[in-house]
Amino acid sequence: MMHISDLAIPYLKIAKQNYKIIEKNGVTNETLSRYFTECFNDICSAMSLYKCWVCVRCMELCKFSYGWGDKPDACPTCGEKTIYEVATFQARASYVGETFQWAFWLLLKNQYGIESRPTSDITRLYDLEIRPDVVIEAKGSPKYIVNPDGSHSQLGRAGMTRSDTKKKAFANAKEWSMRFQNGHFFVVTNAIPNELRAYRNDTVKAIYDVTKKNQLESLIFDLKTIGIVGKT
Ligand SMILES: [Zn+2]
Repeated sequence: MMHISDLAIPYLKIAKQNYKIIEKNGVTNETLSRYFTECFNDICSAMSLYKCWVCVRCMELCKFSYGWGDKPDACPTCGEKTIYEVATFQARASYVGETFQWAFWLLLKNQYGIESRPTSDITRLYDLEIRPDVVIEAKGSPKYIVNPDGSHSQLGRAGMTRSDTKKKAFANAKEWSMRFQNGHFFVVTNAIPNELRAYRNDTVKAIYDVTKKNQLESLIFDLKTIGIVGKT
């Protein structure tokens, strides 16, 4: 179910604008990466999710010491270590997660004619439903942030390379599979750690890095194999 507050956040608009990258140049590793990266950049700028820091000791003294990017070891104004990052992974997680979900939803629909239903419930176990027994969990997050001064801040642990994200996806797959024992639970992401390449288990059908053309096409092949045919 879509919440009213979600409608104000331009996920779909951002995806549609950036989809021009794929329309213009087709599906390649480069265009897929650029498409998702630009969607992340746009949501971070729309919601001001930049990487920045502030010195709390300076604030106490009604002075302001802050900057873009990674925090320095000590405050350049007062020299103390009372420096904190403002927007953290938790602040960005739901925005970038929804952005990735909508960007992937649009890619499936426009490029392959596959319709899926986004779920926005808090209790959801997956993000996109293609058929009641065929669902997709979308786990994507940016590798870096572009700050207003043009600096790039690396975030590290994007997509499924973050252990919390991985655990959540596996737990959701397990719970869902109790309801649909012969169902198909796919995970799509923009980053896969080595140990999860070509991974599958009893509950996770497959994990694909959909910024890679060959992995995206494997997913489409898997979907066709289980009877999901796109409209063209
Ligand atoms: Zn300070």
